[in-house]
Amino acid sequence: MAHYRITLLPGDGIGPEIMAVAVDVLKRVGQQLEIQFEFQEALMGGAAIDATGNPLPAETLEACRNSDAVLLAAIGGTKWDSLPNDQRPERGLLGLRAGLGLFANLRPAQILPQLVDASTLKREVVEGVDIMVVRELTGGIYFGQPRGIFAAETGEKRGVNTMVYSESEIDRIGRVAFETARKRSKRLCSVDKSNVLEVSQLWRDRITQLSQEYPDVELSHLYVDNAAMQLLRYPKQFDTIVTGNLFGDILSDAAAMLTGSIGMLPSASLGASGPGVFEPVHGSAPDIAGQDKANPIAQVLSAAMMLRYGLNEPEAAHRIEQAVLKVLDQGDRTGDIMSAGMNLLGCRAMGVAIVKALG
Ligand code: NAD
Repeated sequence: MAHYRITLLPGDGIGPEIMAVAVDVLKRVGQQLEIQFEFQEALMGGAAIDATGNPLPAETLEACRNSDAVLLAAIGGTKWDSLPNDQRPERGLLGLRAGLGLFANLRPAQILPQLVDASTLKREVVEGVDIMVVRELTGGIYFGQPRGIFAAETGEKRGVNTMVYSESEIDRIGRVAFETARKRSKRLCSVDKSNVLEVSQLWRDRITQLSQEYPDVELSHLYVDNAAMQLLRYPKQFDTIVTGNLFGDILSDAAAMLTGSIGMLPSASLGASGPGVFEPVHGSAPDIAGQDKANPIAQVLSAAMMLRYGLNEPEAAHRIEQAVLKVLDQGDRTGDIMSAGMNLLGCRAMGVAIVKALG
C-alpha cells in the first residue's frame, strides 16, 4: 500500500472550510486505490501570526520539508492588512517557496463544458480552451539585485528593480515546461520580450537550444504583448506556455480569467526535488468566510494536481477530476458559479456530493 505524508496548511478565511472537503475527498480516493495518507496540520499565514507572531513558523517549514507534498488553502485577511509588509501573511508564501526551492509554478486554465457561460468571452472563443501556464517563480525582476528606492544626484528619488536570469535558471524552468508539454498535447509556446530586453534574448536562446533535447515537442515563441492579445483573441491556439516570473504573474491571471470562475482553479509549485506545494489560485475570501458559501472545487482540484504532479498517482487524480465533472453535470453549483435552473449547494454539501460521485 502506498503511503504519503501530507502537510496541510488550512490558513485563513475560507481556508479551513475548503481544506476539510479536500481531505474527505483524498480519504475516499485513498480507500478506493489503497493509498494511505498521513495528514499533519500546521500553522501558516494570519493564523500563524496570531499564535506565534510569525506567518511561517520554523516548525511549519520543517513539517513541510519532512513531507511528500504540501496542500495549502489560502492565507490573509483584513485583520492583518495593517501590519508592515515584512510581517504580513503573504510573507509566509514567499518564505515557503524559498524554503522548499519551488521555482516552477503550474497553473492550468481549462474551460469546463458545464461552465462555458461563466466566461466573459464568447462561447465560440473559449469553448475547449485547455492551457497550462508554467511560470518561473523564484527569479526575474521580483528578486533581482540591485533593487530599492535611491536618491539620485539630481535630488529626486529613483525606483530600481532588475530583471535577471542565469542560464541555469532558464534551463531548469525550461525542462519543467518541456516535460509538462510532453504530458499534454506536445506544444510549447515560450513568451518573452526579446525585441527589447537582453535578459529575454538569453531566455529565447536557451529555450531554443533546450528544444533539441525534446524533438517531439513543437516549440514556438511570442513576445509578451502579442501573447496577451492572442490569449483574448484566440486562446485555443495555446497548450503549454512557459515564461518568466513577471510575465507569468500577469499572463496566468489573464488565462485564469478566461474561465470566469476563480473558485475552480488549482495550481502547483514544484522544485527540483522534495515536496511541491499545491493550492487554489484564489485567496482567503474573507467576505464569505465561515458562512459555508465557499466553492471547494479549486482546493479539491489542487489535491488532484498533488496526486498527479507531486505523488505520481495519476489514476487517483483522474478519479477526482471525473467526480468534479460528474457533480457539475448533475447541476450542483456553489454560489459563485450558480446559474438559473441549477442546484445551489454550500461548501460542505458540495464536498459530500463530490465524495458521493467518487462512488
Ligand atoms: P480572493 O480570491 O480571496 O477573493 C476575490 C473574490 O472571489 C471574493 O469576492 C471572494 O468571495 C471570491 N472567491 C474567492 N475564492 C472563492 C471560492 N473558493 N468560492 C467562492 N468565492 C470565492 O481575493 P482578495 O479578496 O483579493 O483577497 C482576500 C485575501 O486573500 C487578501 O488578504 C489577500 O492578500 C489574500 N490572498 C491570498 C492568496 C493565497 O493564499 N495564495 C492569493 C490571493 C489573495
